[in-house]
Amino acid sequence: MKRFLIAGNWKMNMLPTQAKQFAAQLVKTSKSIDDDVEVMIAPPFTALAEVKEAIKGSKVKLGAQNINENEKGAFTGEISADMLLDIGVEYIITGHSERRTIYQESDELINKKVHSAVNHSLKPLLCVGELLTEKEAGLTHSVIEKQISKGLKDISRDGMKKIIIAYEPIWAIGTGRVANPQSVEEIHFDIRKIIARLYTKDIAENILILYGGSVSVDNIDGLMTKPNINGALVGGASLKIDLFSRIASFRKMI
Ligand code: PEP
Repeated sequence: MKRFLIAGNWKMNMLPTQAKQFAAQLVKTSKSIDDDVEVMIAPPFTALAEVKEAIKGSKVKLGAQNINENEKGAFTGEISADMLLDIGVEYIITGHSERRTIYQESDELINKKVHSAVNHSLKPLLCVGELLTEKEAGLTHSVIEKQISKGLKDISRDGMKKIIIAYEPIWAIGTGRVANPQSVEEIHFDIRKIIARLYTKDIAENILILYGGSVSVDNIDGLMTKPNINGALVGGASLKIDLFSRIASFRKMI
């Protein structure tokens, strides 16, 4: 059966009190969301504890926006896998285009972060996606293939059970320019073929592949009806409880 994950990436937004209120409201909405749809929010580190408390016992899951690749030690300002686990985090966003571009995270560093997450039983969302210039030059496939093969380097078949891929074309992030659902479907199908080549057909069929990039109430239905799209990574619209609740309840609107 097809499974879905609707994930909210709050980025550097929301104070702990606002986050707590939002999470409590989302818990109420989540009661009427179908069992095959998982809902996750990734607040900033400073709001993780408040959100964890607010979602206790509900089907809303907790994610973090970053992880350090090391176990512990002299890494000022960083947060380890153990620290995130201890607070109740389940998902980790890795390879987001903002971290790749603003903080120059390489595929090699992202791969280390993915390993750190998997080694601690956390579930990494590995974000991949092409620039507009790469899309226009017909490079989407090769960009994504490189990001996936390098990002997942030496991840075992067992480790793959924890991995989620988020296809986020960079030109669609925060621009209001959502990718056409049919072309997203084709790219997701291509991602499954890449995973099947790197691992097995079974792993490729079962992996969750989310779409991200200006997802909104207006385009969620068209995206989620496509067979190879297993959910969404939502930025801007995840900051408004009414919008995010409606996105997470997408099947009610089909
Ligand atoms: C994102 O930053 O991952 C994202 C998809 O943002 P937005 O939904 O605002 O385009």
